[in-house]
Amino acid sequence: MLGQMMFQPLLISSMIEHAERYHADTAIISKNTDTSITQTTWGEVAHNAKRFAQALSALGLTQGQRVATIAWNNHRHLEAWYAISGTGLVCHTINPRLFPEQVEFIVNDAEDQVIIFDKTFLPLIKAVEDKIPTVRHLICLDAVDANIQAQLPHVHFYDQLIEAQNGALEWPHFDENLASSLCYTSGTTGYPKGVLYSHRSTVLHSYAIALPDSMNLSARDVMMPVVPMFHVNAWGTPYAAAAVGTSLVLPGPQLDGKSLVELIDQFKVTLALGVPTIWQGLMAAATEMGSQLESLQRNIVGGSACPPSMMQIFKERFNCETIHAWGMTETSPLGTANQLKAKHHQLSEEERAKIRLAQGRPPFGVSLRLTEAEQSTQSVAHDGNSIGHLQIKGHWIIERYFAKTESATTADGWLDTGDIATLDQDGFMRISDRSKDLIKSGGEWISSVELENIAMGHPEISTAAAIAAIHPKWDERPVLIAVKVADSSLTEADVLDYYQDKIAKWQIPDRVIFVQSIPLSGTGKMLKRELRNMYENVLIQQKKD
Ligand code: ADP
Repeated sequence: MLGQMMFQPLLISSMIEHAERYHADTAIISKNTDTSITQTTWGEVAHNAKRFAQALSALGLTQGQRVATIAWNNHRHLEAWYAISGTGLVCHTINPRLFPEQVEFIVNDAEDQVIIFDKTFLPLIKAVEDKIPTVRHLICLDAVDANIQAQLPHVHFYDQLIEAQNGALEWPHFDENLASSLCYTSGTTGYPKGVLYSHRSTVLHSYAIALPDSMNLSARDVMMPVVPMFHVNAWGTPYAAAAVGTSLVLPGPQLDGKSLVELIDQFKVTLALGVPTIWQGLMAAATEMGSQLESLQRNIVGGSACPPSMMQIFKERFNCETIHAWGMTETSPLGTANQLKAKHHQLSEEERAKIRLAQGRPPFGVSLRLTEAEQSTQSVAHDGNSIGHLQIKGHWIIERYFAKTESATTADGWLDTGDIATLDQDGFMRISDRSKDLIKSGGEWISSVELENIAMGHPEISTAAAIAAIHPKWDERPVLIAVKVADSSLTEADVLDYYQDKIAKWQIPDRVIFVQSIPLSGTGKMLKRELRNMYENVLIQQKKD
């Protein structure tokens, strides 16, 4: 017997419709590419999304076609997002920090029909425009600009396109399983691959990230996604914000610490999200500017492991609770978030702090397991100690990559994450490493994340990456590549000494190499592959010298 309740497809348009109906006057603050600030509302964003949807139809686009965006987090980008997915087109967000050849590859792979771009990315568009034959329209996300027109004669301007429309549109209803957006993996460990989300997966993910044990989003929050909209859809936050009626502060192109501190203080941001490198700059700037980040109640750190020292500073200096979260492009991205359970309140402060270091536990809707090897179905104990290959399944987890016919999952339907982790009975997951970054010394594994966490706890080290260097006896040994804070006279011996008693002796790095900076990917992650290319022979060379 079937249930007898109404059926409504889970569509992205229903979230912006909700925001328009019940949160129309909630503020959306946006920093533009020229650094001016626009203050708008969910009501206006929703109205303009409808106008832009009309404009896209007028350009002759039809359901399922891909519309790319190369843009910062700003209000026009947000409107365009809802317009594209809302009409059944696929919103393909592209990382502008990629090389032109990579952008060309991605646009051609996705067969994008349109590229919508922020003014600042004109040089990138010029570099690829002759090599992307599927693209029929270029839309500059701004008011008419004669300079841009001179360089791209056929360009459309967003403001002009929406001015020609009245917004009298009903969002179409269609199958909730249709594609809504497309993100390419950022390629930290390989060639980019497309992940095609559906309306259903996106709406369910939005519910999940808003839950109290995830981001705890509400209509009382002012949220600043520093994580870009091209990095797994800003971790899904602009969708969940509309569903919940959260106010947004969109930081535009200026992601330096000082600009972010100014936005937090001026617009009373209660919750902000970003990768650890962003937070490092922000902490330093806040301290220098004498800001207490008074409004900031919590910050969500993900994308790479959050060093314990960072959590401590946020708590002690800024009275801000750090929520550590883990996910991937393939997982929409939320896989886990770290919130304690009631039983943990009996624990000592120190024991609680230890649990908070883990990447967290899965919300309802996803499940995790550990296996003996990649693609294996043989499970490893979930006892909080045993290390295994992390696999995931759930409503918002990829089944196959864009344009591929073969499944990306194991024989029994789980996705291999490429991460190595422990998992306990409560579901708390702790990442040891990416399988490609693990250091295998004489058959034993050493966690590069743990070595980095310890190093970053040293007050004179600002960033550190632990990599595997080739060793004649042990196959691989850890080498630490570190950046000192300004004016530090720290030596290699000091750092090696700092590791004593914090970790087993055989896990202490063989060398510490100081550098000016560590190469970062377009999403702000340390490019360990490049570091390995540079330094993997350092221990063999040393032997020869
Ligand atoms: P890329 O694979 O190019 O880095 P993703 O953004 O999809 O692109 O990265 C997902 C990976 O990032 C995860 O598999 C994991 O290795 C790493 N990661 C994400 N969040 C965390 C975290 N909180 N701690 C440690 N690693 C993380």
